[in-house]
Amino acid sequence: MENICRIAEDKTYKKYSATDENIYPFRLMPKVDGRRRVVLLGATGSVGSSTLEVIRKHGDKLQLVGIAGGSRESELNAVADEFGVSESVLFSRDGEPGLEYLATLPEADIVLVATTGTAALRAVLAALEAGKDVALANKETLVAGGHLVKAAEQKSAGRVFPVDSEHNAIFQCLEGNRTHGSIKRLLLTASGGAFRDKTLEELKNVTVDDALLHPNWSMGPKITVDCATMANKGLEMIEACRLFDVEPSQIDVVVHPQSIVHSMVEFCDNSIIAQMSKPSMTFAIQHILMYPERKEGIHESLDFSKMMNLEFRPPDEKLFPCLRLARQSLEAGGIYPLSFNAANEVAVDAFMHRGLPFLSIPAIIEEVLENVHYSLPDTVDELIDTESRIQADALKRLTF
Ligand code: NAD
Ligand code: MG
Repeated sequence: MENICRIAEDKTYKKYSATDENIYPFRLMPKVDGRRRVVLLGATGSVGSSTLEVIRKHGDKLQLVGIAGGSRESELNAVADEFGVSESVLFSRDGEPGLEYLATLPEADIVLVATTGTAALRAVLAALEAGKDVALANKETLVAGGHLVKAAEQKSAGRVFPVDSEHNAIFQCLEGNRTHGSIKRLLLTASGGAFRDKTLEELKNVTVDDALLHPNWSMGPKITVDCATMANKGLEMIEACRLFDVEPSQIDVVVHPQSIVHSMVEFCDNSIIAQMSKPSMTFAIQHILMYPERKEGIHESLDFSKMMNLEFRPPDEKLFPCLRLARQSLEAGGIYPLSFNAANEVAVDAFMHRGLPFLSIPAIIEEVLENVHYSLPDTVDELIDTESRIQADALKRLTF
């Protein structure tokens, strides 16, 4: 088994190749008074603020060294002041080098990516190239550019750690349990979003405000709408395939309205391991930023002295066609996952800001997928260009 060791000034890395028993790297935290130094992209968002909570609580183990946000400059400045961060960047697509600059800061150990869309793709690649670890909350980057990210990771001393709660749960369930061929399937749990109990008739007239009322999680607006259409779970199926190197047929979605079980792994002996906690992103963020150490969490534990029901049921793909479309895109591979993501972004934006009916979101995605005629680009420049073309195509298909 290939075994890469690197001793840096204040840390020891030990990394194993993803082949057999030891599929996960073993890593030691910085020694003595060393702190893990974190760059946070998307510091003013929902995952960004949960990350700041974790860093605030564990200031003896974590240090914020760089932050970026897409807007809200005064908020960003307040974060820089509070954490004594000297490197902060206010970023728009034109200013993309700013994200790459931060992601490759010599003093950074790990880059937590909590931006939306594929804005941070170049920064993720640059971080890996510079040997940094990447803690990925953002899923669109892996869905659209997974092949580029995986290739960069293979050459890097750093690696990609999952912060999306389902994937973080799977990561935890697999640790110490994965041997060649041992995984039967990954079970991604889904809250079902704001409309999980609605009928098709009722879905015709739902509003943006309705879609933004998520029953369990407080998140940014785009992902909240993605939960309502279940496109989020579709993106997460693709993300899981990329992260854990499993076949599309090995991924199932289970609706679990309480959002206590964050995902499960079924092994070939039919035994299932699940990860549970209250629904807060701070668990997954802290798990990765402190990995492999465990320290006191921000939220209290589950209270088993009180009655608690955990329900599981299959998803309704007729009511939520985005799930079917994502699965088909995953199975087709190539340009399709990127196209699914690009079309979804355009459709969700049109739903939120331009009055596109809710049920037209999957319809637009399906039309784009039926007409896409590009092949999967193998450079980041081409990929960004192709993504823009697909988005332009989706925009043309908006008729309402
Ligand atoms: P959000 O909209 O609350 O925050 C996004 C952050 O990124 C903001 O700080 C914004 O200013 C910044 N940003 C957006 N575009 C940018 C750009 N071009 N350049 C620099 N900064 C930019 O979003 P969120 O809910 O925190 O989600 C962030 C990512 O994490 C998404 O990919 C989402 O799917 C994923 N995620 C979120 C949650 C959650 O609980 N919110 C859970 C799992 C995964
Ligand atoms: Mg998730």
